[in-house]
Amino acid sequence: MANGGPVEHGYPHLDTVRAAITALYKRLSYDTVHTFGTSVAPADVAFCDIDDLHLGAQRVARVMVQHFRLPDARMIVSFRDMEHAAGVELAAGPEYFIELNNRFRTHRRDIGAALAHEVMHVYLHRLGLSFPGTRDNEILTDTATAYLGAGWLLLDAFREDGTSSQKLGYLTPEEFGYVLAKRALAFGEDPAVWFTSPQAYTAYTKGLQLARQDERQPPLTAAGWAGRRRYAKDRRHAQDHGAGGACGGPYTFDAGSTLKVSFPCPTCRQRIRVPVRGRVRARCTLCRSVLDCDT
Ligand SMILES: [Zn+2]
Ligand SMILES: [Zn+2]
Repeated sequence: MANGGPVEHGYPHLDTVRAAITALYKRLSYDTVHTFGTSVAPADVAFCDIDDLHLGAQRVARVMVQHFRLPDARMIVSFRDMEHAAGVELAAGPEYFIELNNRFRTHRRDIGAALAHEVMHVYLHRLGLSFPGTRDNEILTDTATAYLGAGWLLLDAFREDGTSSQKLGYLTPEEFGYVLAKRALAFGEDPAVWFTSPQAYTAYTKGLQLARQDERQPPLTAAGWAGRRRYAKDRRHAQDHGAGGACGGPYTFDAGSTLKVSFPCPTCRQRIRVPVRGRVRARCTLCRSVLDCDT
């Protein structure tokens, strides 16, 4: 887990984040994803300065192990001086050694966030789900932590004041906000009330705007006027000239005996293909969303 440096903003990792959400649904299935309908509760990871440091860290690690249903896994948490914020040794188990940076000794409220990320590494390791390369694999880990209900802690660890800033994880605050909002929309949950950091709350509202935009892209009937107009123009072009995806939207047209349009599912980002013939109701086979389209 990375540590320090200036805080990056915006959506530089958005493609990988979206691919990670699709990969989670593919590897876990809709049913398993939806067993994570309840997020880790703030009270379960509360850690105050009078708590014993090691006992408290072990207790919070157990909360994460239970949340991610790793019944036989045992996390051994220790603290040391290190460059990174935290790390875990991915061995065969059932014991896993997690190291936390010594600075968490005096930043106990962020221990839950660090442990959420490290325990997710163990979860994904056991699933055999990974992305090639450290950067993409860390983005997968942060995205999975947030989508499966423990990542609001990672966003809440983002704090800025006049002189300093701190952030955990590889996603930008807005990207964490986006994944948490995708989760909120899919699970009918509102994480906004859990944030103690005003900057985290702001990043969440920005991410929520982008997540809502995903649900308003043509050919979905919820698309706005400008999007529909552009879509009609692109469709005319495809009808006149055959296939081609050379258009600005997130959709592409495929020629064949009948013209079809494909676009990303707003929930899981798997591509969905439907015939171009006006009103169509499609069902995403991966996340089971029912999508009203005007093709
Ligand atoms: Zn990591
Ligand atoms: Zn879907």
